[in-house]
Amino acid sequence: MSGWFELSQKYLDLRSEARALAAACADIADRADEADSFDPDVRTRLKESGLAAVLVAAEYGGRYEAVDSLAATVVREALAYESGHLDSMFAMQGIGSYAVSVAGSDEIRREWLPKVAALEAVSAIGLTEPDVGSDLRSITTTVVEKGGELVVNGHKSFITNAGDASFYEILAREGDGYSLVFVPADTPGLSVAKRHQIIAPHVLGDVILDDVHVPSANRLGKPGAGFKLMLATLATFRVSVAGAAVGVAQAALDEAVRHASQREQFGTTLARLGGVPATLATCWVEIEMARSLTYRAAAAAAQDPLGALDLSSMAKVGATEVAGRVTDRCVQVMGRFGLIRGSKIERLYRGARPMRIYEGSTEVILDSLAKKLVKDRAKGATTK
Ligand SMILES: Cc1cc2nc3c(=O)[nH]c(=O)nc-3n(C[C@H](O)[C@H](O)[C@H](O)COP(=O)(O)OP(=O)(O)OC[C@H]3O[C@@H](n4cnc5c(N)ncnc54)[C@H](O)[C@@H]3O)c2cc1C
Repeated sequence: MSGWFELSQKYLDLRSEARALAAACADIADRADEADSFDPDVRTRLKESGLAAVLVAAEYGGRYEAVDSLAATVVREALAYESGHLDSMFAMQGIGSYAVSVAGSDEIRREWLPKVAALEAVSAIGLTEPDVGSDLRSITTTVVEKGGELVVNGHKSFITNAGDASFYEILAREGDGYSLVFVPADTPGLSVAKRHQIIAPHVLGDVILDDVHVPSANRLGKPGAGFKLMLATLATFRVSVAGAAVGVAQAALDEAVRHASQREQFGTTLARLGGVPATLATCWVEIEMARSLTYRAAAAAAQDPLGALDLSSMAKVGATEVAGRVTDRCVQVMGRFGLIRGSKIERLYRGARPMRIYEGSTEVILDSLAKKLVKDRAKGATTK
């Protein structure tokens, strides 16, 4: 069978490649997943794998003709199975450079995208601010055009790759609209402040922009195109978070099954005791449901990202919520062994938690899906 229900050979081959990289990072995953800055060995192994090229179009040194949601999703599922740090390092190369790919000047694309594809340059995107998260229309960062230059002022917070990034795509107010501006990390006036320590360590920091001057050509797209470009980025990559969540949930279940099959209590293995078998099977059912929706949404997004955004959003909510439930249940199945700091299951449990908050929190996505549902029904449409 092919099409919606099975990955084609291209994606199966890509998955094997990503699994090989994940396995090659297994010996350093526990260290890397505690890091709040780039792990140099993970970076070297990802670079040598050539997988970052999946996130850039062939014209600019990438692997495939166009950046492809299904490819990003399949790779993230495999990488997140082993290491959140590796998964994030991979994913951000696409999320932080997509607006450059679709709307950067020729000069910026030709200079930077081949470096992104080769992991010689590190990408980042700055939307969130200290007082602004989900409600991005309230941002206070500004960009003003003066004498052929853009001047950016503001404070971005919780920015993945801050400090390790080579450039930032910064969302700023421009007049009555919003623009995205390409700011190389070494531009005078740009500085990185505190690294944030969170439940599952992540390369996170604040980016301060104090009278940062860049050429006008560094505005990505036209003035006011910021939200459109952000939406294009989301439409392409939101579903890949679902892929990572499926990888995390699968890894947790594999750990729990291994443990429950070996450990004996009351004269039999945990896998045959009380509610444990049903817990394991329920996790399996939920993971398969999440994976099916994720692949379907990613395949649709690979053809038409904006047209598939509802499905991608459903997959993101569905799979990240499944990862939360599954990792929690698997810790429970493993008893005290599930709680050991730094063990794989404990890392997965912590790693699943932020996924329900970033790239559109569950509640914010449900709210927009609900609005769409009611609006479409009012127009007489049926749900698909
Ligand atoms: C690991 C990690 C990496 C990140 N990386 C980046 C990055 O690279 N770049 C970047 O710009 N940002 C990044 N962020 C920030 C992230 O985008 C925000 O955390 C996210 O947008 C949510 O904003 P907030 O945390 O301020 O929560 P808030 O917006 O304050 O929301 C708090 C709670 O209120 C709920 N809520 C908010 N609005 C509504 C609504 N309309 N309806 C119902 N419920 C609502 C939310 O669901 C949530 O439960 C990252 C965050 C994390 C945790």
